[in-house]
Amino acid sequence: MAEDQLTLATAEKMLAVRQTQLKQWAEEYYQNDAPTVEDSEYDRVYQEVIDLENQFPELIRTDSITQQVGDQTKENLPKVEHIQPMLSLGDVFSMDTLSDWMHTTQQNSSTALAYNAELKIDGLAISLRYENGSLIQAATRGNGQIGEDVTANVLYIQNIPHQLSEPLNLEVRGEVYMPKTAFVNLNEQRDRDGLTPFANPRNAAAGSLRQLDPQITKQRQLAGFMYQVIDSRNQLGVKTQAELLIRLAELGLPVNLTNQVVESIVELERYIEQQTNQRDNLDYGIDGIVVKVNQLALHEVLGATVKVPRWAIAYKFPAEEKQTVLKEIEWTV
Ligand code: NAD
Repeated sequence: MAEDQLTLATAEKMLAVRQTQLKQWAEEYYQNDAPTVEDSEYDRVYQEVIDLENQFPELIRTDSITQQVGDQTKENLPKVEHIQPMLSLGDVFSMDTLSDWMHTTQQNSSTALAYNAELKIDGLAISLRYENGSLIQAATRGNGQIGEDVTANVLYIQNIPHQLSEPLNLEVRGEVYMPKTAFVNLNEQRDRDGLTPFANPRNAAAGSLRQLDPQITKQRQLAGFMYQVIDSRNQLGVKTQAELLIRLAELGLPVNLTNQVVESIVELERYIEQQTNQRDNLDYGIDGIVVKVNQLALHEVLGATVKVPRWAIAYKFPAEEKQTVLKEIEWTV
């Protein structure tokens, strides 16, 4: 339907149909760890909702999928309230929109920006709390405000230290993922046991971490990469995101050091091309590149919406060609 013909009433109906569909897919993905459509299909319909809401801002409801962090917590797991919300990330799918985002972010900042480009690890977000250097709590993102307490399970993730190299009190955030080789082995085993295989390593990681029985997590060979500290006053004494990653590694935390500081879209494009080319050689899944304002002091200045920070964005890789035919949605409006 051409945009100029779209009435408010039709847009409202279109939004309702798409919101219902997205909420069903989100439930399958987050609650059941069993998606029925490709992420690219979810992202395509989500983008349609954003476009409609941009065109008719009066139709944006607080319960819209664009206004909430998607996950819901599992009923049977204990809950943790986050000290600071765990947010999602805004996403872009082309260099042009990435360049636009950089331009707008620069316009909203008083100093010249540099950006830290990092791999977007395809797992699930985790928050780790250390007291006097000891790991005392691990929580999933959940709905952003309330997550699931998975401390007993995280203690079985081999590359997450129980003790930091310094006796610090801090909250570190990052991603838990399942290495590709562990994923293949797990699905072969599930096949032998007559169980349904996991759809992808991300869902296998989520299903393996959000378990009542830590022994299951122990068998699943999960791993983590950390990239954020919740400590706006001190930030471990460093000034940039790139320095923070090195500092986290010094503390003994697992960090992905394939990041690069860039100052222009040209440099960023080169980094994205390099990372895209060697993506298949990695033993973990990545679904894009996260671009973050490198100066940590500006993160607080730029702030966040209810769902995403304004100081970071995810560039998502184009969907890979699949042999299977994607489910085509026939919208009634
Ligand atoms: P997201 O996964 O696209 O991006 C946000 C997350 O990226 C962060 O919360 C963090 O956990 C992670 N991340 C990984 N590496 C990072 C890094 N270096 N720095 C910072 N963060 C990093 O957003 P989301 O809200 O978690 O999930 C939405 C996405 O999930 C959709 O875009 C879609 O692709 C997928 N999804 C798919 C279905 C489906 O049915 N297939 C349903 C719901 C959601």
